[in-house]
Amino acid sequence: MSFNIANKKITIIGLQKSGVAAAQLASMNGANVFVSDLIENEITKKNYIKLTDNKIKCEIGKHTDRIFESELWVVSPGVPKNIKIIKKAQFLGIKIIGEIEFANMFTNLPIIAVTGSNGKSTTVSIIYDILKNSKYEPILAGNIGIPFSSAVKELNQKLIKGNIFILEVSSFQLEFIDQFHPYISLFLNISPDHLDRHKNMAEYVRTKLSMVKNMTNDDFIIFNKEDESLNTYFKNFSVKTIAYGLKSDNKFFSIRNSTLYDSNNEPFLELRKIRLKGQHNLSNLIASATIAKILNIDGDSIKNTMKNFEGIEHRLEFIRKFSDVIYINDSKATNLSSVIAALNSFESPIILLLGGKNKDSNFRQLLPHTRRHVKHIVSFGEAGGEIAAALGDAVRLKKTSSLSQAVASAHKVASPGDVVLMSPGCASFDQFKSFEQRGTKFKELVNRL
Ligand code: ADP
Repeated sequence: MSFNIANKKITIIGLQKSGVAAAQLASMNGANVFVSDLIENEITKKNYIKLTDNKIKCEIGKHTDRIFESELWVVSPGVPKNIKIIKKAQFLGIKIIGEIEFANMFTNLPIIAVTGSNGKSTTVSIIYDILKNSKYEPILAGNIGIPFSSAVKELNQKLIKGNIFILEVSSFQLEFIDQFHPYISLFLNISPDHLDRHKNMAEYVRTKLSMVKNMTNDDFIIFNKEDESLNTYFKNFSVKTIAYGLKSDNKFFSIRNSTLYDSNNEPFLELRKIRLKGQHNLSNLIASATIAKILNIDGDSIKNTMKNFEGIEHRLEFIRKFSDVIYINDSKATNLSSVIAALNSFESPIILLLGGKNKDSNFRQLLPHTRRHVKHIVSFGEAGGEIAAALGDAVRLKKTSSLSQAVASAHKVASPGDVVLMSPGCASFDQFKSFEQRGTKFKELVNRL
């Protein structure tokens, strides 16, 4: 599939990673591209230079009326859909699509699309690991690394090879979907995250589900039946759906007596042989294995990844054992569901580091999950006070201001056998540029103890 956009005027809103990628893909296909970003910072300045060097016209720090002289808008995922310029473009009859939709116009390869509130990056990495050891040549793209537009561009230029896409898709990227049509859509879970951006839960669920609006009977929807919203929605869905879960009675994989059984009811893998920690990760593994089965990948390749996959950086990442205390970096846990998943992954007493920039969470929701084995909470950052107010009456808690103070505090109260877990339940933007920077800093602090 290749759309003819030659000489068409295309406006791209957003000059971050995916905006740049979309601009380059559009330009390669002969369009007359104009990129506009309201934000002027280090990143957009650098990207401005990069694109103008390649004769692509850009503006930063403002949106001039030139953005409306266009037939098509490609909107980056960072741009909220309710802002004035979008409404005006819609009023003017300009077609608006997202970056994923745009890239999709230029490829025919089958797509495995993974979405959900938590576990997307982990799961696409597991699927990639299984597929790369099979007859498939997978290309991993989307939220996790290279934007879909870059991957499609490089594929079409024959700079990379591949015969199937594995795409990590966030709900923001689904806001402007039109023809996007994955062969396999995986829904991991839906929990209240990003409620600051999406008006309410119903809208959030609706956006996530727009991923399957073009599905046909030749495609597959894989969903976690232990997620209430997903189960309710997909139970009676007309397109082919395959449920997975941690209990028995699934089409492909079922767990009984600490063993995973296959569809013939033969033992497939003993759970104790799996390295990745946590029930949530077991669920991610089973989701990935279900996809591999649909793709007819042999059992040994699936088993191999299930046993040996060690997880990805900043997700329940083991840092070190020091004075018989285990230190874990879970900086990517930016919402309460992932904090709960982290708490449930350990049996030992936990000293929990919580804090950062609150995303409208009610920290009291953690209470039922802290009772079992959280012996101490250390709060830090902008939300430190709010966390202390919400949980301080129920759990021993120390409020600190910075991550380094939090680490020092945790170290002081930890005793042999404990786990110090930084699973912050908040965004990182109060004191860090990204969750990666926060996690890296945490690792440095822990390694210096
Ligand atoms: P995403 O890409 O959706 O943000 P990640 O794989 O990066 O997901 O994981 C984000 C956080 O959520 C990590 O703290 C991780 O341990 C946790 N997590 C991973 N999978 C799940 C799951 N299925 N349910 C709940 N939490 C999960």
